[in-house]
Amino acid sequence: MVTIRPVINYDKEKCGDPSACLKCIRICPYCVLAYIPLETPEPGKPPEDWVVVSTCRVMCTYPTCKLCVEVCPNDALNITIPSW
Ligand code: SF4
Ligand code: SF4
Repeated sequence: MVTIRPVINYDKEKCGDPSACLKCIRICPYCVLAYIPLETPEPGKPPEDWVVVSTCRVMCTYPTCKLCVEVCPNDALNITIPSW
């Protein structure tokens, strides 16, 4: 049996600086989302920018849960179920 996993689509332009928000990351009950540096910083320097990523998409229970989509103030997340 093939289990279809949700695809989490993230719009960096709409999000802006996720490190100043983190609402989607904090609200996810399964810790699916995280934020990572957009680029590897130079040694000794902090990252200049961040992006939201899904680290364990298999845990996402969309469409039962839509918390991250609903909490985002910038409409930067949407989730789709791929059709095969
Ligand atoms: S839909 Fe729910 S389970 Fe899936 S990433 Fe968003 S908050 Fe997490
Ligand atoms: S809730 Fe929206 S604006 Fe906030 S970090 Fe997540 S994607 Fe970005």
